[in-house]
Amino acid sequence: MAAQDLPAMHTPFENPKFIFFTDFDGTITMTDIPLSRVLVLGPFAKSPQTDNIGFGTELRKKGNRDVLEGTKSFRDSFKEMMDSVKLPYNQCIDYILKHIKLDPGFNDFFKWSLENKIPVVVLSSGMEPIIRALLEKLVGPDAKNIDVISNTVRARPGKTINDEGGWEIVFHDPESGFGHDKSLTIRPYAELPAEQRPTLFYAGDGVSDLSAARETDLLFAKKGHDLISYCVRENIPFTVFEDWSAIKAKVQEIVAGKITVHEAAQKGFEEYKKGEAGVNGVAH
Ligand SMILES: [Mg+2]
Repeated sequence: MAAQDLPAMHTPFENPKFIFFTDFDGTITMTDIPLSRVLVLGPFAKSPQTDNIGFGTELRKKGNRDVLEGTKSFRDSFKEMMDSVKLPYNQCIDYILKHIKLDPGFNDFFKWSLENKIPVVVLSSGMEPIIRALLEKLVGPDAKNIDVISNTVRARPGKTINDEGGWEIVFHDPESGFGHDKSLTIRPYAELPAEQRPTLFYAGDGVSDLSAARETDLLFAKKGHDLISYCVRENIPFTVFEDWSAIKAKVQEIVAGKITVHEAAQKGFEEYKKGEAGVNGVAH
């Protein structure tokens, strides 16, 4: 694909030198469970019986088992889970806004990235209207400058999304068993000719981010999460972050030419070896 066909090569900046791709759930939000699960289980992972508005723990566990055993795709299981939420969509958004904490450092990072002409692209398996509402709460009107590539929702026949039982999820990549394959978005950027290709960053926390991370030059992997062990095993360059202030500090150094992405990744691996990455039950 040519550079002119790739949105982040033009919006909001022409021919950026860097692009920052990021996961949303658990990476920009401070919640360990995906927002979609919050809808089904309630906001507290450890006490799922409270306050849930979807089909609850038992059916969700069955759905997970089906996926693990290969009798159902992740996409189909996820659709069933979302179908169990009958709450009007505007109330789903309010519910999430009320219960989810966001990383306050993201706002500062994002303002800096705008000043430095670095596009930020959110890649998520969540649903766009909820992500947009949360981003707006976190960064204000500038949120319109963040491209969000994710699943979305549509109204069921004869209803609006804000009716009881009125909405359903629409997958970004319906032909993929995962519903959204993040690597498909990044790859055309990674394959640009060297003189056009920006340096690509990615931030994530989960194993679903691995395919996306492979396509980029440097992965920011959240401290204490499984993604770090996978990166070590798969030889993917990474650096560890705990919150977005750490990401900003590192990207600033790279943009200023103080360190290369390669050096940053090397440091990430050393932190891991010293047990400072918070995985394998070592340091925290
Ligand atoms: Mg995540």
